[in-house]
Amino acid sequence: MPGYRPEPDRDSRAWWDRLARHEFAVQECDACGTLRFPPRAFCAACRQEGWHWRETVPEGTVESWIVSRRPFVPGHRDPYLVVMVRLTAVPGALVYGNWRAERHPEAGERVRGTFTQVDEELTVLDWAPESRIAIRSDGNSPAR
Ligand SMILES: [Zn+2]
Repeated sequence: MPGYRPEPDRDSRAWWDRLARHEFAVQECDACGTLRFPPRAFCAACRQEGWHWRETVPEGTVESWIVSRRPFVPGHRDPYLVVMVRLTAVPGALVYGNWRAERHPEAGERVRGTFTQVDEELTVLDWAPESRIAIRSDGNSPAR
Protein backbone atom coordinates (compact mmCIF):
# COMPACT_ATOMS: atom_id res chain seq x y z
CA MET A 1 0.00 0.00 0.00
CA PRO A 2 1.54 3.30 -1.09
CA GLY A 3 2.00 6.40 0.97
CA TYR A 4 0.80 7.57 4.29
CA ARG A 5 -1.32 5.48 6.62
CA PRO A 6 -2.94 6.89 9.75
CA GLU A 7 -1.22 5.69 12.90
CA PRO A 8 -3.60 5.83 15.86
CA ASP A 9 -1.96 7.03 19.07
CA ARG A 10 -3.05 6.96 22.72
CA ASP A 11 -5.57 9.77 22.21
CA SER A 12 -6.93 8.85 18.80
CA ARG A 13 -7.04 5.02 18.81
CA ALA A 14 -10.58 4.84 20.23
CA TRP A 15 -11.72 7.38 17.62
CA TRP A 16 -10.36 5.22 14.77
CA ASP A 17 -12.00 2.14 16.33
CA ARG A 18 -15.34 3.97 16.37
CA LEU A 19 -14.88 5.07 12.76
CA ALA A 20 -14.40 1.42 11.77
CA ARG A 21 -17.86 0.77 13.27
CA HIS A 22 -19.22 3.70 11.22
CA GLU A 23 -19.58 5.91 14.25
CA PHE A 24 -18.47 9.53 14.23
CA ALA A 25 -17.81 11.11 17.60
CA VAL A 26 -16.02 14.05 19.15
CA GLN A 27 -14.86 14.50 22.72
CA GLU A 28 -16.98 16.39 25.24
CA CYS A 29 -15.37 17.82 28.37
CA ASP A 30 -16.91 16.49 31.60
CA ALA A 31 -16.19 19.76 33.39
CA CYS A 32 -17.27 22.52 30.97
CA GLY A 33 -19.01 20.69 28.11
CA THR A 34 -16.70 22.00 25.40
CA LEU A 35 -16.66 19.76 22.31
CA ARG A 36 -13.29 19.09 20.74
CA PHE A 37 -11.62 17.37 17.79
CA PRO A 38 -9.11 15.87 17.12
CA PRO A 39 -8.89 13.74 20.28
CA ARG A 40 -6.70 15.21 23.01
CA ALA A 41 -5.89 14.24 26.59
CA PHE A 42 -7.33 17.37 28.19
CA CYS A 43 -9.64 20.29 27.51
CA ALA A 44 -8.03 23.38 25.99
CA ALA A 45 -10.81 25.56 27.45
CA CYS A 46 -10.58 24.54 31.13
CA ARG A 47 -7.53 22.23 31.29
CA GLN A 48 -9.50 19.39 32.89
CA GLU A 49 -8.79 15.78 31.89
CA GLY A 50 -12.25 14.17 32.26
CA TRP A 51 -14.16 13.65 29.02
CA HIS A 52 -16.51 11.29 27.20
CA TRP A 53 -17.44 10.61 23.58
CA ARG A 54 -20.33 12.53 22.07
CA GLU A 55 -21.63 10.84 18.95
CA THR A 56 -22.63 13.31 16.24
CA VAL A 57 -23.43 13.41 12.54
CA PRO A 58 -20.40 14.03 10.32
CA GLU A 59 -21.60 17.24 8.71
CA GLY A 60 -19.82 20.46 7.96
CA THR A 61 -18.82 23.05 5.39
CA VAL A 62 -15.88 23.10 3.01
CA GLU A 63 -13.19 25.42 4.34
CA SER A 64 -10.54 24.67 1.72
CA TRP A 65 -9.12 21.89 -0.43
CA ILE A 66 -6.03 20.74 -2.25
CA VAL A 67 -5.38 18.54 -5.26
CA SER A 68 -2.69 16.04 -4.35
CA ARG A 69 -0.46 14.66 -7.07
CA ARG A 70 1.47 12.30 -4.84
CA PRO A 71 0.17 9.24 -2.99
CA PHE A 72 -0.64 10.33 0.53
CA VAL A 73 -3.90 8.72 1.59
CA PRO A 74 -4.09 4.94 1.14
CA GLY A 75 -6.44 3.40 -1.38
CA HIS A 76 -6.49 6.22 -3.92
CA ARG A 77 -4.80 6.95 -7.19
CA ASP A 78 -3.39 10.39 -7.71
CA PRO A 79 -4.17 13.08 -8.43
CA TYR A 80 -7.00 13.25 -5.96
CA LEU A 81 -8.70 15.93 -3.97
CA VAL A 82 -8.54 16.39 -0.19
CA VAL A 83 -10.99 18.72 1.53
CA MET A 84 -10.69 20.54 4.84
CA VAL A 85 -14.12 20.52 6.50
CA ARG A 86 -15.28 22.69 9.39
CA LEU A 87 -17.60 20.57 11.55
CA THR A 88 -21.09 21.95 12.12
CA ALA A 89 -21.19 20.40 15.60
CA VAL A 90 -17.77 21.77 16.56
CA PRO A 91 -17.10 25.01 14.67
CA GLY A 92 -13.50 25.17 15.91
CA ALA A 93 -12.69 21.72 14.55
CA LEU A 94 -11.31 20.96 11.09
CA VAL A 95 -11.39 17.46 9.60
CA TYR A 96 -9.50 16.38 6.48
CA GLY A 97 -10.67 13.72 4.07
CA ASN A 98 -11.00 12.55 0.50
CA TRP A 99 -13.49 14.34 -1.71
CA ARG A 100 -16.22 12.10 -3.21
CA ALA A 101 -17.68 13.90 -6.20
CA GLU A 102 -16.91 14.27 -9.90
CA ARG A 103 -16.53 18.04 -9.61
CA HIS A 104 -14.45 20.30 -7.39
CA PRO A 105 -15.93 21.50 -4.09
CA GLU A 106 -17.02 25.08 -3.47
CA ALA A 107 -15.94 27.17 -0.49
CA GLY A 108 -18.62 27.09 2.18
CA GLU A 109 -20.44 24.19 0.54
CA ARG A 110 -22.34 21.91 2.92
CA VAL A 111 -20.94 18.39 2.99
CA ARG A 112 -21.56 15.10 4.73
CA GLY A 113 -19.07 12.46 5.78
CA THR A 114 -19.18 8.93 4.37
CA PHE A 115 -17.37 5.94 5.84
CA THR A 116 -14.97 4.22 3.46
CA GLN A 117 -13.42 0.92 4.48
CA VAL A 118 -9.91 0.83 3.03
CA ASP A 119 -9.06 -2.65 4.31
CA GLU A 120 -9.76 -4.92 7.27
CA GLU A 121 -8.02 -2.61 9.70
CA LEU A 122 -8.62 0.86 8.33
CA THR A 123 -11.76 2.90 7.70
CA VAL A 124 -11.50 6.57 6.72
CA LEU A 125 -14.03 9.38 6.58
CA ASP A 126 -14.60 10.81 3.10
CA TRP A 127 -16.72 13.85 2.25
CA ALA A 128 -19.47 14.31 -0.34
CA PRO A 129 -21.73 17.23 -1.26
CA GLU A 130 -24.86 17.33 0.88
CA SER A 131 -26.86 18.40 -2.19
CA ARG A 132 -26.07 15.11 -3.92
CA ILE A 133 -27.56 13.22 -0.97
CA ALA A 134 -30.60 15.51 -0.97
CA ILE A 135 -31.22 14.92 -4.68
CA ARG A 136 -31.15 11.18 -4.09
CA SER A 137 -33.73 11.59 -1.30
CA ASP A 138 -35.98 13.67 -3.58
CA GLY A 139 -35.83 10.97 -6.21
CA ASN A 140 -37.33 8.50 -3.77
CA SER A 141 -40.04 10.85 -2.58
CA PRO A 142 -43.59 9.68 -3.39
CA ALA A 143 -44.75 13.33 -3.41
CA ARG A 144 -43.18 13.91 -6.81
ZN1 LIG B 1 -13.43 21.82 29.67
